Amino acid sequence: MEPITGLTRGGIAWTPAFVNALDQAKCIGCGRCFKVCPRDVFDLVDREDVDGLDDFDDEDDYGDDGFSDDTSMVMSLKNALDCIGCEACSRVCPKGCMTHEPAAAA
Ligand code: SF4
Ligand code: SF4
Repeated sequence: MEPITGLTRGGIAWTPAFVNALDQAKCIGCGRCFKVCPRDVFDLVDREDVDGLDDFDDEDDYGDDGFSDDTSMVMSLKNALDCIGCEACSRVCPKGCMTHEPAAAA
C-alpha cells in the first residue's frame, strides 16, 4: 500500500497518521482533543446517549487546569474523514483514547 504522504514547508516528506478510533470507555470528556484539533472531527455528546457505555467512575482529578472533569459527557468521532493525521489529539489526551493509522493513497 502506498500511504498518503505530505510535505513540510521545507520539502521533507511525512506520513500522516489519521485517527481511526476513539475508546469512549476510557474518555473522561475533558475536551482537550476538541480544542487542539484543527478540523471538524470531534463532537462532545452525552454519555447516556451512547449505547453500551457504562457510567464513568474515575478517581483522578482533572479540575485544576481549566478543563472540565464532568464525566457525564464523552467525546465522539463525528467526522473522522475530515482528519489530516496530525496526531495533536493523541498528544493531549490524558487517557490515550485515540488510535491512528496511515491511509492508502487513492
Ligand atoms: S489527528 Fe489531528 S486532524 Fe486528526 S483528529 Fe487528531 S487533531 Fe484532529
Ligand atoms: S482528550 Fe481524550 S479523554 Fe479528553 S475528551 Fe478527548 S478523547 Fe476524551
